[in-house]
Amino acid sequence: MGEIWIKEAERLGDGSIGGAMDTPSAPPRVVWHTTESGTGNASFDAVGKYLISISAEPHILYDPTTDRLAQYGPLNQSARALKNDGLTRTNRTGRVCIQIEVLGKASAPFTKTWKPGPNFKALMRAIRSWGVPDVFPMGKPAAKASATVRSRTTWATEGGHYGHCNVPGNDHWDPGAIDTRALFAAAPRTSTPPAPKPTPKPSKPVVSVAHLNAARAKDIPAATGHTTYPAEVMVVEAALKAEGFLNPLYASDGSWGTTTEKAFARFRREVLHLTGDDATGSVGLYSLTQLASRHGFTAKA
Ligand SMILES: [Zn+2]
Repeated sequence: MGEIWIKEAERLGDGSIGGAMDTPSAPPRVVWHTTESGTGNASFDAVGKYLISISAEPHILYDPTTDRLAQYGPLNQSARALKNDGLTRTNRTGRVCIQIEVLGKASAPFTKTWKPGPNFKALMRAIRSWGVPDVFPMGKPAAKASATVRSRTTWATEGGHYGHCNVPGNDHWDPGAIDTRALFAAAPRTSTPPAPKPTPKPSKPVVSVAHLNAARAKDIPAATGHTTYPAEVMVVEAALKAEGFLNPLYASDGSWGTTTEKAFARFRREVLHLTGDDATGSVGLYSLTQLASRHGFTAKA
């Protein structure tokens, strides 16, 4: 659900201007108008009342020279600034059809002299909250009355921003040749802050039976201190020290030499009560898993 009332906007009128949209499953859109009036607060107040008196309220009245923003009705209902074209109730096309009357004249595009501020950003935020894309599906609004583009198909099927000059069945050419890039650039999309990274749980070291047996095969016959998988062997050596089978003063060198071999055999006999071949020779997953569960590491095959 998007923003229905813009909290930064003043309210004009009684808050009720239109009704439900005819085609709420059609893409959301915005229509820009100009009031063909002057700017400043006196004009704002006069035009604000005038549009009510002729029942042609847009959703929004905006003064681009002062950043003053007012709202007549809820953004999720229709406004009344467009003419029905006989085929389509253009005020009621789309998920939303947000109409904005900008103080100024089509012959003097407002983006040349405007001073957009926080209220303009609030307006764009509300527009985008309805999923209106930052595009003008019929291109930049016309620079003169004879240059209007009014595609009935585009109007029916594409979301985005339109000038009154683009609406089928209408004959006005406002808002003039506004700078569409400047319009969006004045309210940069705030990038979504990246989701906080989950605090990594301290991961348990993983020791592989296959790696330990590879280390046994190479380290025992090699010169003292030869290492093959030193990190994993050191985890086992630390566990064997904690069990009391390796002298705590013995350097944990990560080498599976005969001292480590004997210590592991003692663990199997004295703690696991294994006998015979089960207590000697290559490291088995059962005995490593038992040692792992007692010393906070993970054993795998
Ligand atoms: Zn208009």
